Amino acid sequence: MTQHQPIILHIRGEDHVVQPGEIHAHWREAAEAKGYRIVARVKDRYSLALECNSCGGLHVSRLFVLLNYQPECPHCVDARRRETAKHAGLELLRRDHGNRKYAFYRASCGHEIRRQFELVERMAQGETAVRCEICHHAREQEEAALEGWELLGADPQGSRNYRLYRHAEGCGAEARIARANMQTGRFTCPGCGESWATGPSFLYAMKFKLETGSSAIKLGFSRNPDSRLKYQLHRHSDLARELLLKVPMRTGRHAQRVEKRLHKWLVAEFPDELVPPEEFSDLLRVKSELYRAGLEETILRQMHRIARKEKRAAERNRARSRSRSKRMRRT
Ligand SMILES: [Zn+2]
Ligand SMILES: [Zn+2]
Ligand SMILES: [Zn+2]
Repeated sequence: MTQHQPIILHIRGEDHVVQPGEIHAHWREAAEAKGYRIVARVKDRYSLALECNSCGGLHVSRLFVLLNYQPECPHCVDARRRETAKHAGLELLRRDHGNRKYAFYRASCGHEIRRQFELVERMAQGETAVRCEICHHAREQEEAALEGWELLGADPQGSRNYRLYRHAEGCGAEARIARANMQTGRFTCPGCGESWATGPSFLYAMKFKLETGSSAIKLGFSRNPDSRLKYQLHRHSDLARELLLKVPMRTGRHAQRVEKRLHKWLVAEFPDELVPPEEFSDLLRVKSELYRAGLEETILRQMHRIARKEKRAAERNRARSRSRSKRMRRT
């Protein structure tokens, strides 16, 4: 008696023993029509090893799938998905064996993210953007830190727009605050009452480079213009931008009044220097007026004037409170 060594086919990380038995002609025809060549029978009576005519890769298919459906070559599917991932700005690392609709990817920031294939396809089409949770969380933490707060976590009441924060550089109170308000600093601490309206603020001027090649000036007020510049106004982090000037203002409310007055004056004096919103709406999250860069000098001159006025007001205030305390000591 002769001892046959079993023939082993190594297919997609698994060893398959080649099974005896005929490979019928109509099986071969079906395979050929569907882009495959039958290499052998494997595993059991109903499984075949197929070789893909376009990539040469092997995979195991059930006989009834070959006869009744169009089997998909997993090598070709993987190659397509790798390509799609590249278009989405990702690197496909491996499938998620726990869920066949998902895979793990390397994002451009270097972090590993898990995404649905379908979502990555939409990213590749530009319908949706990649968002790395780790980077996003770090960004939200930094936003809060710039306002003197600490991000504790998601909203305990489950709102997507709110987060739980702690007034770290203040009274230590914990509060639910809308993220948008944390970004602009326009909220009042329920613990100590510190707020944008009563707290110190700044009038600022920023310069942005538009796609047309020209620049535009934004005038605004904020408790933290550096954070506005760094995180909030632009839609793409590589947008060229700079903070031209910031002028300390006694309160947020006062800054808001002065800013409004200045806008009104600029629009009345230089109506042709307004930038139409379609020139910046996909670059900037800005609703208010933007001015042509030609107005830079005019705007900065007005701001310096306001700065001098604020300084005088602050000096008067100090003098007043000094004489008040003197009077109080005398009585
Ligand atoms: Zn293939
Ligand atoms: Zn990241
Ligand atoms: Zn507080």
